[in-house]
Amino acid sequence: MHPKRPAEIFQLFAATTSLSGVGTKLASLLEKRVGHYVIDVLRHLPIGLIDRSQRPLLADVSDGSIATFNVLVVKHDRPPRGIRRPYRVFCENETGALELIFFHAHDDFVSKQLPIGERRLVSGRVELFQGRIQMAHPDHILPPSQADKMPIFEPVYPLTAGLTTKTIRRTIADALTRIPDLPEWIAPSVIQQHGWPSFATAMRAVHFPQTAADLLHTSPARARLAFDELLANQLALKMVRQSAVETTPGRSYLGDGKITRKLKASLPFELTNSQARVIEEISKDQSLPKRMLRMLQGDVGSGKTLVALWAMLTTLEAGAQAALLAPTEVLARQHHATIQALLAPLEIEVGLLLGQGRSTVTSKGQNDFKPSTSRKGTLNALANGTLSIVVGTHALLSEMVEFKNLGLAVVDEQHRFGVRQRILFGQKGTHVDVMVMTATPIPRSLAMTAYGDLDHSRLDEKPIGRLPIDTRVLPSDRLNDVIAGLARAFREGKRAYWICPLVEESDKLDIAAAKDRYAALEHTLPNVCVALAHGKMKAGERDNAMRAFRDGAAQLLVATTVVEVGVDVPEASIIVIEHAERFGLAQLHQLRGRVGRSAQQSSCLLIYQGPLSDTSLKRLNVMRDTNDGFVIAEQDLELRGPGEFLGQRQSGIPEFVLADLSAHRNLLMLARTEAEYFFDNSDTSQLNMLLSLFERDSAVKFLASG
Ligand code: ADP
Ligand code: MG
Repeated sequence: MHPKRPAEIFQLFAATTSLSGVGTKLASLLEKRVGHYVIDVLRHLPIGLIDRSQRPLLADVSDGSIATFNVLVVKHDRPPRGIRRPYRVFCENETGALELIFFHAHDDFVSKQLPIGERRLVSGRVELFQGRIQMAHPDHILPPSQADKMPIFEPVYPLTAGLTTKTIRRTIADALTRIPDLPEWIAPSVIQQHGWPSFATAMRAVHFPQTAADLLHTSPARARLAFDELLANQLALKMVRQSAVETTPGRSYLGDGKITRKLKASLPFELTNSQARVIEEISKDQSLPKRMLRMLQGDVGSGKTLVALWAMLTTLEAGAQAALLAPTEVLARQHHATIQALLAPLEIEVGLLLGQGRSTVTSKGQNDFKPSTSRKGTLNALANGTLSIVVGTHALLSEMVEFKNLGLAVVDEQHRFGVRQRILFGQKGTHVDVMVMTATPIPRSLAMTAYGDLDHSRLDEKPIGRLPIDTRVLPSDRLNDVIAGLARAFREGKRAYWICPLVEESDKLDIAAAKDRYAALEHTLPNVCVALAHGKMKAGERDNAMRAFRDGAAQLLVATTVVEVGVDVPEASIIVIEHAERFGLAQLHQLRGRVGRSAQQSSCLLIYQGPLSDTSLKRLNVMRDTNDGFVIAEQDLELRGPGEFLGQRQSGIPEFVLADLSAHRNLLMLARTEAEYFFDNSDTSQLNMLLSLFERDSAVKFLASG
């Protein structure tokens, strides 16, 4: 047994099915919301606390509160067989009457738990209904003699359909028993200074909160785990840097300007000053005999694609290949189409490589896909160097893809990819420059820490002539006015997006909402061609819908957030976002960025369903008041609550599970300095362990490291 890595630690990287009570069904539910490994279960922290210490008089109980009562069971009202009504049990005590309600109850269960004439402790959420006090499905029913079996404080976890609080608690309780005795990895001085508990103690404490204060981000247990995660993240960044820059020799990619000059001459517009400046920064970096690791930040519509293409062409001029990696197929196809159109006058081929079996090469100014070119053909062309530019999804990362001479990898929307994948990608060639593009401005206060290992280029200007998008915030009862307004706009030949929120790609309800909205709009707007696009459609169908909208055959595109990033239809000038209160700021900004991409005045209608929380209201007001992505990014950081809204992943704020960057910003710098120390003073196995525990997607790597 390695002294620094107890063998039992592998229990944490076992599949959740190794936990008691977890079968394949529960495991697949956990997979959706929590993760695949035991460690993922442990990282799933409670977001609230139920306090069962409240024992009010039945007479003064308040609606919706959690309360515990000692009652006498008086009477059962069992529904006759075949009759669909709830099973009721009438109880009382000295302070009043309480009705317990069970839907679809097993008769035996209720009668065994609540025998007539006996006293029981019941605890759960109380509802007042026509003057009666009711409790549906109490959380706990116990004889008073077993009162100590009822927990006073119970953690509340983020859930998903089918996953109950009880199940998740039971699963976590078992996962906690799997934590081995681990050597401390944080420096003793840091531990002491903050009064932090050990990893195992911290994990137990966060899952068994005793007071509301234990749930605060500032509690020692939470802060410690947050620090662990930030430290691991800093280490991962250091590793990327090290593997990319220090261990592999860089190469100078010095363009002669032959191709880029032609590109510039063929553009129907001038470069913005910002584009020209950033292009110069990048070209200079490319020409240096070291690997480039750069982040290109620019607000939506600032023209990043052109800048990326320029860098790719510089690589070509220097005799190497370039690849552009997009987060989704839709975006890969779109980038491919855009680049193909830009390169048509230059007679340069662009390959497209998607998932297994879908690949295209287009050649020599041809404007349509040539689907006959096989995936194998594209792979061969990349391997023998006859194809210089390729666009693709993460299929490009697969081991099968070989390049003759890859010089530059551009990764679009970098936060969608794990660090690990970035490393992998960097290894596709030995001298590969990496440039990540993000459409979401990163708050200045974070850029130097969380992304400090990348050099930065910022596009902080939009092409001239772009008007700010006129944004309005409206309650959902104004929907008819909105539709009437749309009808007028369509008569003027305008094009619009209608966005329905989507909680999870697999969420049937949300797909249904989008379909219903589509049907309703088609009905109310009989003269308008409406298209529908959502994530559960076959890629071909969705592409058809997008294409119809792009070509103008459809004037209205009803969509879930599949259009969120990068979809570029300059003629679209209106975007309606339903349930805007369910989106995060960064995602709203992304969505809004689908319009305002031409010289015409665009508008954005944010429709909310009340009542709005203070934070939601503030968020919508920020959207109304500014179009500046950098301002929005700062506000996003200020206003975010843990796991509170959709689309956190779209934000430029790095994703953490244990750390909350608005609360733990102070720990970031510390993590950065400690990472330096750790890196120089620890062995690989300890480093791997830390990455595996706290960096998502790292568990596999740990297992592989044996
Ligand atoms: P981003 O990816 O940053 O959101 P894009 O690269 O998609 O932005 O560019 C947005 C739109 O602006 C595209 O239609 C593109 O052709 C156009 N564009 C890019 N650069 C300029 C420029 N300098 N002047 C005018 N339009 C431009
Ligand atoms: Mg783009």
